[in-house]
Amino acid sequence: MKENQLGNGPCYLRTTSMTAEQDEDLLKAYLNMAPSQTLKWLESGKMPSEQDVEIQGTEPYIVGGHTASGYWVNTNRETTIRRLYAAGDVAGGCPQKYVTGALAEGEIAALDIIRTLESERSDSTVEETESLLDEQTAQILHTYENIRNEDHAAFSIEELEEAMQKVMDEYAGGIACNYQFNERQLKLADEKIDQLIRLSEQIAASDMHELLFAYELKERLVVCKSVIAHLRSRKETRWHSFNENLDYPDTDDTYFKYLNSKRIDGELQMILRDIVEEASYEHTDQ
Ligand SMILES: Cc1cc2nc3c(=O)[nH]c(=O)nc-3n(C[C@H](O)[C@H](O)[C@H](O)COP(=O)(O)OP(=O)(O)OC[C@H]3O[C@@H](n4cnc5c(N)ncnc54)[C@H](O)[C@@H]3O)c2cc1C
Repeated sequence: MKENQLGNGPCYLRTTSMTAEQDEDLLKAYLNMAPSQTLKWLESGKMPSEQDVEIQGTEPYIVGGHTASGYWVNTNRETTIRRLYAAGDVAGGCPQKYVTGALAEGEIAALDIIRTLESERSDSTVEETESLLDEQTAQILHTYENIRNEDHAAFSIEELEEAMQKVMDEYAGGIACNYQFNERQLKLADEKIDQLIRLSEQIAASDMHELLFAYELKERLVVCKSVIAHLRSRKETRWHSFNENLDYPDTDDTYFKYLNSKRIDGELQMILRDIVEEASYEHTDQ
């Protein structure tokens, strides 16, 4: 990242010292991991041993197998919402667990779900769940009808999606600004995302396929709010290159903690949690 900023780019991964046999291995490895790279080599007609690979430093995942971010879970992978479980990439606090870790967490969650169902099965919990489901179904149908019946939409889903990407890229530490940001930019990003949320209340979908994009946009806007709030709350730079807080360029040990957020009545509440050292963790407070 720095080399490019200093004008020393483009940067390369030296592959021209490789043998033809290593070429073949690399093609196969990338077919599994990032197939577009293998296609690029084949398309250009030059194997890695014949040309170095131009690279760009990037780690764009908000939630993924490589990061510690995700939903806050207890040891059994139950989230802070009772009976909602998260396993694998969506489960937070346990970075770099990848495929095998995701499988293990899935099993941990499944075993706890079975235990819970066995111990809690009673008529009252069934009734309670059914009434909650009725309420949620009514809410979902209401949003659905609104989107399908809207005929005065000022902007298309695609236009709002593009505006959202632009806001996050330019004001919330995206690739266009080398993953750097400051508080003023984040504040602006938050305001602009709020505007887009208001506009997204009037989007229209002409068919079921577009309806999917409408829901995706709405959910992404919620994620944007959360990303901005998390970037704003950590008054330090903990992971250089991933995100550089220009107002707080150094690491500050007071933030050697998990930063969580909880959405209450549409507002995000931030929670700093201590790093858990024990072998097990249960939700006791939030
Ligand atoms: C480029 C790259 C390379 C990687 N390389 C490796 C590697 O070499 N080795 C390794 O072990 N790990 C690797 N990983 C990490 C690994 O792929 C993930 O950790 C793992 O796949 C996580 O599994 P998961 O089941 O938690 O999530 P996912 O595999 O992401 O599964 C989630 C599923 O949910 C579906 N979904 C999402 N939303 C909805 C919805 N609303 N309704 C219904 N379905 C929905 C998605 O389509 C998806 O199929 C790599 C990841 C990436 C991105």
